[in-house]
Order: sequence, then structure tokens, then C-alpha cells
Amino acid sequence: MESIKQPTSCSNCGSADFAPVSPSSGTSYVLTTVDQSTTPPSFLATSGLPVQVFGCIKCGVLTFHNPSLRLD
Ligand SMILES: [Zn+2]
Repeated sequence: MESIKQPTSCSNCGSADFAPVSPSSGTSYVLTTVDQSTTPPSFLATSGLPVQVFGCIKCGVLTFHNPSLRLD
């Protein structure tokens, strides 16, 4: 199976001025969810998809990357 490649340029503007956005040491970013049936929405502490975040300094767009994505 072909592995998922890390992005090397901005998917919005194509710039190569694009690099990982590092969280503080020993942590990672997570794309998570909230329950919108409550007010205010409640954070679901057990849900989440770990993501690497890349940022473009030309246009400011952030890109999320997860190398373990698969089709069900
Ligand atoms: Zn860009």
C-alpha cells in the first residue's frame, strides 16, 4: 500500500514557505469534537484524531495531516 506523504507546499496558494507548526514539547494537536445538543457545547474528552499541523506564511492557511487515514 502506498504511504501517505507529508504535504510540502500550501494547498491554498502553492507556496513552499510552508512548515510544520510545532506544539509545545511532548504534546500533539488533536482534531476533536463537541456535543452541540448542550449549551454551551460540551467538549468530548475521549474523541479526537491526532493531526500534524502545517502552516503557510504567505496566506496563513493551516493544513491538517494524518498519515494513518484509511477508507472504511
Ligand atoms: Zn498559502
